[in-house]
Amino acid sequence: MRHPDYTLTAGPTTVWPRVQAALGQPMLYDYDPVFLERFRATERKLAEVYRTAGDVVLMQGEAVLGLEAAARGLVRPGDVAVNLVSGVYGKWFGLWLRDLGAELVEVEVPYDEAVDPGEVEAALRRHPGARVVSVVHSETPSGTVNAVREIGPVAKRHGALVIADVVSSLACEELRPDEWGLDVCVSGPQKSLAGPPGMSLVSVSEEAWDAMRANPDAPRGSFLSLLDWKERWIDGGRTAYPYTPSVSEVTGVEAALDEVLERGIDAYAAMHARAAAATRAGVRAMGLELWAASEDVAGRCVTAVTAPEGVEVPRVLAHVRERYGVMLSPGFGELKERLFRLGHMGPAADSLTLVIALSAIGRGLADHGVPVAVGEGVEAALGVLAAEGVPA
Ligand SMILES: *Cc1c(COP(=O)(O)O)cnc(C)c1O
Repeated sequence: MRHPDYTLTAGPTTVWPRVQAALGQPMLYDYDPVFLERFRATERKLAEVYRTAGDVVLMQGEAVLGLEAAARGLVRPGDVAVNLVSGVYGKWFGLWLRDLGAELVEVEVPYDEAVDPGEVEAALRRHPGARVVSVVHSETPSGTVNAVREIGPVAKRHGALVIADVVSSLACEELRPDEWGLDVCVSGPQKSLAGPPGMSLVSVSEEAWDAMRANPDAPRGSFLSLLDWKERWIDGGRTAYPYTPSVSEVTGVEAALDEVLERGIDAYAAMHARAAAATRAGVRAMGLELWAASEDVAGRCVTAVTAPEGVEVPRVLAHVRERYGVMLSPGFGELKERLFRLGHMGPAADSLTLVIALSAIGRGLADHGVPVAVGEGVEAALGVLAAEGVPA
């Protein structure tokens, strides 16, 4: 089967050209001084993109590793954990918490909405001893965002630690872990950073380190251990890794971070906001329905489109890939058959690329007998881009 011409997915997504070049660099010994410096520089750049003065950890495994490490490091059996659920990943995190023996309190909303910070406040009032609040910033499977800017401070006022899944939001949404009280943030390179999958990019507050040190069940001497990275690598003067880092992936991640920093953190995020707004306008003008209940809760990394009645999502996507060479994403988890996702992250958020995604889904649905005004969708999207492009 041929490769797609365009990968406009929900992640892994198209990587920046410099990431691709970086991944082809010679393989270095992990204690080669050149690689040691690359690793340390990648950490510094990650902290910059996170806008944190705290520690960051580059864990060697897909973001799910970082999320599990955060849960295991911070949550003990019997702890009250308030888990916010507005989508598939939020639900999933709750399963881990329960597995760990936490007393799980869930604040759940339909998967096309966002959690109301007022409801978080109410849940914390009902459960005054809550130790942890966990929240997904950008629910990639439904293209929605939660107001972590408000939720973080609510949790802190109640003395809870905050674990934030920012896997797809880092670099595309505004994110300020230190100011918003997000104790552990976990991201991955394969979403908005447009880097290779395979690493967890974690930020950790001092309070979270204290809590982990005080937790006798926090993993040590384990692939799931954040403390190993703190005690052996960070506190040890950054000279000894707990285990061999993924040399190529680190190099790829550094290139992705370079792209963000060179463009500017705000400009990079604004590029995603623009692409998302143009895509939403295009979807609506084509006569299709956005999955998000309102524009306010729609995120910047993907646009989720409700599958029209009677349409088989996998069939349309296979056709779009086969006929037009464009790889798009279906829903994920329980939303798999219910929506299409147009990814606009990294290079897919740049220039007019989103017009390709809109044309592909529009024409693909039209080919299956759905009445879609493809041209009007493209016009509307270009209208948003043109308006945004006029200097103020
Ligand atoms: C991608 C993603 C993850 C990581 O999950 P994978 O499916 O293994 O990539 C976790 N949380 C969110 C919000 C994500 O978008």
